[in-house]
Amino acid sequence: MCYFEQSLWSCGYWKWGNFRQQCNKEYRTGETCGLKLVYETSFIPSPCKICEQISKKDRRVRKMEEDIARWRREGNRMATIEKTEHDIRGVQGQIEDLWRGHEEKRRSIC
Ligand SMILES: [Zn+2]
Repeated sequence: MCYFEQSLWSCGYWKWGNFRQQCNKEYRTGETCGLKLVYETSFIPSPCKICEQISKKDRRVRKMEEDIARWRREGNRMATIEKTEHDIRGVQGQIEDLWRGHEEKRRSIC
């Protein structure tokens, strides 16, 4: 068991930080025994980078949806609407992937 710093974001996402202290089962200098324990948790009072990416993509989707609604009112923009709808599905897929990774990490112990 070796001790590491840990960062914890307000959304529950966390990450190992710097190696701090060796345990007494590991004698090789600079090596760690593979079992990580928390030395100290630094709480970061903001959402993690993944959450930032998700909300950025979310805003993009909403913007595109507004564009589509406007184009529908204006008419004659069928090709642009179809292309944008395709883009929205792409971004929504990225959001789902990011979120899945985020939740797996949030629930995992190490
Ligand atoms: Zn997050």
